[in-house]
Amino acid sequence: MECATAQLLLVNYSVVAMEYFGAADDLANLVGSHSKFKVAQQHAQQLHAKCREALSALEEHRLQHGCNMAI
Ligand SMILES: [Zn+2]
Repeated sequence: MECATAQLLLVNYSVVAMEYFGAADDLANLVGSHSKFKVAQQHAQQLHAKCREALSALEEHRLQHGCNMAI
């Protein structure tokens, strides 16, 4: 059985993760430009934190709810 909440949290995590990978890509392209790199680095760090939050929300839900879905 699929759990709707876990599904939602997983989708949420995927969206944030995609954003984070995009930001990490941008970061790699901005290595030569100091001021832009700083801004992009901050942005990527924020997304990384969001990414971890989204993942731990999913894991926490699975533990509490006892539902398990393969990623
Ligand atoms: Zn669940």
